Amino acid sequence: PTTAISGDLVGSIDQGTSSTRFMVFDTNGEMVTIAQREFEQIYPQAGWCEHDPEVIMETVHTCIAEACKNLEAMGRSIKDIKAIGITNQRETTVVWDKTTGKPLHHAIVWLDGRTNATVKQLVEKSETKTTTYLQEKCGLPFSTYFSGVKLRWLLDNVDAVKKAHDEGRLAFGTIDSWLIYNLTGGLDGGRHVSDVTNASRTMFMNIRTLKWDQEILDFFNVKAEILPEIVSSAEVYGNVTKGPLAGLPIAGCLGDQQAAVVGQRCFNPGEVKNTYGTGCFMLFNTGTKPVISTHGLLTTVGYKLGKDVEAVYALEGSVAIAGAGVKWLRDNLKIIKEASEVNELAANVEHTGGVYFVPAFSGLFAPHWRDDARGCIVGLTQYATREHIARATLEAVCFQSKEVLDAMNADAGTELALLKVDGGMTNSDMTMQIQADLLGISVERPAMRETTALGAALAAGLAVGVWKDLDNFKAGQKPDVFEPKIQAADRASRYAEWKKAVERSLNWV
Ligand code: ADP
Repeated sequence: PTTAISGDLVGSIDQGTSSTRFMVFDTNGEMVTIAQREFEQIYPQAGWCEHDPEVIMETVHTCIAEACKNLEAMGRSIKDIKAIGITNQRETTVVWDKTTGKPLHHAIVWLDGRTNATVKQLVEKSETKTTTYLQEKCGLPFSTYFSGVKLRWLLDNVDAVKKAHDEGRLAFGTIDSWLIYNLTGGLDGGRHVSDVTNASRTMFMNIRTLKWDQEILDFFNVKAEILPEIVSSAEVYGNVTKGPLAGLPIAGCLGDQQAAVVGQRCFNPGEVKNTYGTGCFMLFNTGTKPVISTHGLLTTVGYKLGKDVEAVYALEGSVAIAGAGVKWLRDNLKIIKEASEVNELAANVEHTGGVYFVPAFSGLFAPHWRDDARGCIVGLTQYATREHIARATLEAVCFQSKEVLDAMNADAGTELALLKVDGGMTNSDMTMQIQADLLGISVERPAMRETTALGAALAAGLAVGVWKDLDNFKAGQKPDVFEPKIQAADRASRYAEWKKAVERSLNWV
């Protein structure tokens, strides 16, 4: 370092499905440094997926330590960091013992499908015998996806969890709760809280009052005392107790998809972003009133940027498998060595040769919500090659996003003209071009693609006064815009064929 640079900084922990990252942003929203660690995906059985919560904590500490070292090497002071924000993989469920602070089971990951039978039991128990029984109240249908269903499975299947629940020792939380509890001291005074966006993914929170709903808890047969306290997305939850950031306030928290809404600054009703990571998640800002979908979307809290400000809601279309399909080509079919190679392969062919790939590995989420759907590749001929399958994998992500966008247009009664995008898979120019082609609207990708982490940093910085408000906040350079290049008739016929492929996936059993 030659000269010392100063200026306020804000840190952001991005605890994702496949890796943990810690990033530091300056007041312009530019990323100053980043550290990242992948961690093990534990697959005890087909369709199951777990994380070790203690390993997740280790990756958080490692990333913070490395990023702080980077900062110092750049001649910047760690003391310039004014607060940290947290954003996390949502719905992933952690249970721990309040008397030991230790997990009672591995975390059950959001896309884990083990709760199939639990979902059936809950539907059977409901008065209407439908998956939408609680949707008016909590915004969500019964699905393997949500934390409350995963908790019910743990209580029914893991003795240690049931015992702790009966004896008043159980603590339940999503990954945000687990991180904040540990970072603020764990057994030694750690806070058991959950931000309202994460709480809105459990099924236990009333989407209008933003409080735990006793009727829902009774239905699930779950004690309220095991739940975290619901807090806003931007306020000081407590201070970090150890490591290089000891003493710093944790002041912002949002589930990853909601953080991307803030990071993309979709602050006006009608604005939409789509994040392409392991899965794909499109969120549509509906303003300060929750809207219950009639087209297979979820109602969720978008953000609540302060204790005393109103919550802003979103309609969400969740797709379970996006980038995970590319990983499947890499790890299971082994036709590529790196995720990015899928693009070179797909670029060797002009089209998929009539091949359609529906990656319904753990069922289909929005707008279908069918746990029993399974993946299929249709339209194979002797002419089909791995190039066609690679291209069909990218198209699948875009077709699934089109299904979700159609549902949003139908719920909103208007046609969207622009889609803001982010996430690891948006590094693929080809996917973004296919997306614009298949939607027939412009697709806008920001220059700084870490919008999820930025969103959490903005919330934390807002809470401690690094930013006075976010109205005038603009992140750096101009975005890339992808415009549709194909004819409407081509778009329509390919989409019709995709829908036929989805029919196969839904009805193969
Ligand atoms: P998450 O936060 O869910 O862990 P990321 O936003 O980091 O996900 O995105 C990673 C996903 O994006 C991986 O599933 C990977 O397969 C996919 N991906 C990353 N880079 C590319 C690329 N250049 N082309 C296509 N897919 C990619």
